[in-house]
Amino acid sequence: MDYFKGLPFEHAGIKVKGVSRAGSGTCIYVPEFKCAFDSAQGLPFCYGSPHFAITHSHMDHSGGIPFIIMQKALTQQKPGTFFMPEYMIDPLTKIMQTWSDVEGHQYEYQFVAAQAGQIYELKAPYFLRPFLSEHRVPTLGYQMLKQSKPLKPEFIGQSQQQIQKARQSGQQVDQTVYHPVVAYTGDTKIEFMDLSPHVLQTKILFMEVTYWDDRRSIDDARAWGHIHFDEVLPRLSEFKGEKLVFCHTSSRYSIKEVKHILRQKVKDPELLSKLEVWG
Ligand SMILES: [Zn+2]
Ligand SMILES: [Zn+2]
Repeated sequence: MDYFKGLPFEHAGIKVKGVSRAGSGTCIYVPEFKCAFDSAQGLPFCYGSPHFAITHSHMDHSGGIPFIIMQKALTQQKPGTFFMPEYMIDPLTKIMQTWSDVEGHQYEYQFVAAQAGQIYELKAPYFLRPFLSEHRVPTLGYQMLKQSKPLKPEFIGQSQQQIQKARQSGQQVDQTVYHPVVAYTGDTKIEFMDLSPHVLQTKILFMEVTYWDDRRSIDDARAWGHIHFDEVLPRLSEFKGEKLVFCHTSSRYSIKEVKHILRQKVKDPELLSKLEVWG
């Protein structure tokens, strides 16, 4: 069943497996980074991920954490690392302790209080940077970053010998650059675009868009801390990356229906080629 295996997505050699529907579950695993955004209810395609970037406390996004911890113990993996907003750490530690008490088994795991703007190493050259979103509960989105160390501009064009000499004399010849490869907004209102505009530069951005037509109004979407596509439509040109992937669709819509709505509402073929509906 696709739900247990995860639905595939691929762009520019970056592969993703996951699910993302409002209220039922969101977990987006990026094997190259060995990290998943959110946990859904703990699905088999992400058990091998060493890292999880948890956006917020709603159960369809984070309810799977205890189950994933158990699966890792069962298969003798190293304890997983779960980045999450700080307010979640105490309650989730209590939940894990309660499970440990009930099962008579002490589980190992690492919960990290993620701060917006900080860069966390997954395993170099792969890094994670949380950013602010805005939902009914405090929510972080995350960017997955790939580090590179190109030469500083003043050394470009110099010979290997000159560069070697500069290095030996203690000069810093290279610089550290972080390329935003994949990001996920978490559940959010459209305000994340103004709170965290740098995220719109990410190569592949997974953005929650829960509602798509007048079955639910913009006001309804906002009241629940979500995005309506009609709010995104006039702002599409602000996205500077390569693929904008809409996820977290309400179960009121089939994916086929949403793809049809997208083609009806976006007339520019060049813009349309950057957009995907997935989940
Ligand atoms: Zn959600
Ligand atoms: Zn939510």
